[in-house]
Amino acid sequence: MKRLALIISLLLPLSSVARQAAVSSPDGTLAVAVSDDNGLLTYTVALDGAEVVMPSRLGFAADFGNFLQGLQITRSTPGEADRHYQMRQVKQSHIHYRARLLDVEVENAQGQRMTVQFSVTDRDVAYRYLIPRQKGDNPKCAVILSEASAFRLPPGTTTFLTPQSNPMVGWERTKPSYEEAYRADAPMTDRSLFGQGFTFPCLFKIPSAGASSLPAAAGKPSAGARASAGASASPYAATVSQQSPPGAWLLISETGVGSQYCGSHLSDYDPQEGYTIAFPMPGENNGLGSTTPGIPLPGATPWRTITVGRSLAPIVETTVAYDLVEPLYEPKASYPCGRYTWSWLIWQDASINYADQVSFIDLAAAMGYEFCLVDNWWDQRIGRDAVARLAAYARSKGVGLMLWYNSNGFENDAPQTPRHCMNTAVARDKEMAWLQSIGVGGIKVDFFGGDKQETMRLYEDILQDANRYGIQCIFHGCTIPRGWERMYPNYVSSEAVLASENVYFSEDAASREPFDLCMHPFVRNAVGTMDWGGVILNRHMAKDNRSRHTRKTTNAFELASGITNQAAIQCVALQPNNLQELGEAELAYLRRLPSTWDETRLICGYPGRYVVLARRHADEWYIAGLNATAAPLTLSIPLDMYSPGQAVTLLGDTDKKGRPAPDATVQTTLKVSRKGDVKVTMQPDGGFVILQDAE
Ligand code: CA
Repeated sequence: MKRLALIISLLLPLSSVARQAAVSSPDGTLAVAVSDDNGLLTYTVALDGAEVVMPSRLGFAADFGNFLQGLQITRSTPGEADRHYQMRQVKQSHIHYRARLLDVEVENAQGQRMTVQFSVTDRDVAYRYLIPRQKGDNPKCAVILSEASAFRLPPGTTTFLTPQSNPMVGWERTKPSYEEAYRADAPMTDRSLFGQGFTFPCLFKIPSAGASSLPAAAGKPSAGARASAGASASPYAATVSQQSPPGAWLLISETGVGSQYCGSHLSDYDPQEGYTIAFPMPGENNGLGSTTPGIPLPGATPWRTITVGRSLAPIVETTVAYDLVEPLYEPKASYPCGRYTWSWLIWQDASINYADQVSFIDLAAAMGYEFCLVDNWWDQRIGRDAVARLAAYARSKGVGLMLWYNSNGFENDAPQTPRHCMNTAVARDKEMAWLQSIGVGGIKVDFFGGDKQETMRLYEDILQDANRYGIQCIFHGCTIPRGWERMYPNYVSSEAVLASENVYFSEDAASREPFDLCMHPFVRNAVGTMDWGGVILNRHMAKDNRSRHTRKTTNAFELASGITNQAAIQCVALQPNNLQELGEAELAYLRRLPSTWDETRLICGYPGRYVVLARRHADEWYIAGLNATAAPLTLSIPLDMYSPGQAVTLLGDTDKKGRPAPDATVQTTLKVSRKGDVKVTMQPDGGFVILQDAE
């Protein structure tokens, strides 16, 4: 259904009369309406005519004046955007951004002005505030004291959120670092665990958007579903064909945050205002730096993004984090992508010595992997001269060495060295020149201080300086990226997740791994690349692969996680012993596993329960499934990229007699049915991979 691109009803002379402005997406499914009723600026978002964001406040308080009440829409101007761009390190390579735009100019009672700018694509709504200089061409800069920016969601909405941590707590006072657990299916009224709100991205499920076109459902098998469960029926064996989706899904996040603003998060839910944009806590960054951001004028705040869909596909496939930002500088090198080995996950600090690192370089070489990452303490335990020799050895094997750094500084007590190499421009210049001289082209910088503008500036400064020396960067103990894959060409990925190290640290976290990895395609990894830190093949979380607790997932689950987790430099946490332990099919798959994708599609899934993704690398499709439920899950997977009758290779965890095979991946050949699908069973905490052709 085509709609008018823009409906404006305004310019009535009386200020007591509410004025409206509106804009719809190119295909008309998403519509935004803005109103200044009672002097409050609000917006709504509708999906096929049904409100998915109820009237929610816009505006902010700045040091020069406030735009919270007494506001009047003075003018609105429609626009369009249509551009193509290329990405090298995200879920998709060629991206077409096509949006309708709307600039809503607003005046407060003092005659001060600002503009709310909207971008509306067929799956994303985004807005930001443009702030001009005011009367007399002043002020020329502004401090934003608070934002009214709110998100009021319909009653009955359930949440998939992770809490913001208190500052200066946790190991060596390193939090917040986006390493808290996600909770699924919680009511909006539940307070966040620490009373500090929730970090982005925030996922919401609206059971019914109030329109007959959006049927209510609650994760129960739908009548039209083609899935069937095994002997023990799974309640989630449904929605494969997405014929009967729940009302709507919403993913709220932000993009375009660099040195010019702070990172924000969502407040706890307020019955009046909904969720609002919250600034960093005073205690972050060891109490130093402002909680409020400052910008030059004219200037703009970051984009707040709302991805909306009837199904979860728009959430998983969205590129809004990249659509609305531009590269801030040119790449100084052609930055390679690839896979890396990492001794630290299982062998820990004891492996930071020359001989052990040689064995992980050799492992990378044996697998055809591009990189090996040497983790903390290398400057003391290996020494800089020996690290230079190690880099040369790696190069002789065709492997690039990457080195770990502490970001500190003063922001927390993380003791690991090297310290004080990344926190000042002078130190970085010296260090990065040395890295370039020994041929190291990648660093991992850990333990950042939070989301204040001061910390955002440190990320940007590290990236910009590293680029001058042809070095690319992975961040750990950090915030989420906010458009950084496009803004900074040498940015690779961030941890900002309760990552694989926890599977090593505790049995509890090992038990949570299936839930977590079935959650992240819909949340954390949907808005930015994620360094989860490894496809893990050791059964026991110990160097001897016998002591300590076990990994709970099947081997096929881990193989699949190399596809469902997206990072352009992907960790495969293979151990030297795995070369003897794994089957030839598993090793062959791990050798060919791509780390870059041209296209990503969600086939089916439910956050925290199960997920099936299809990713394309060049002209080959890699289809991967994970099952976090307690029962075997049998799904009919539609494969419209193949013709009926075509043979595909399945790597799974269920043998021909239907028995679980957790430690020995079963390779079978399947034929795509006449209907265009294949039937696959995943064990509990299991998974599968479908490859294009038999090895
Ligand atoms: Ca960490």
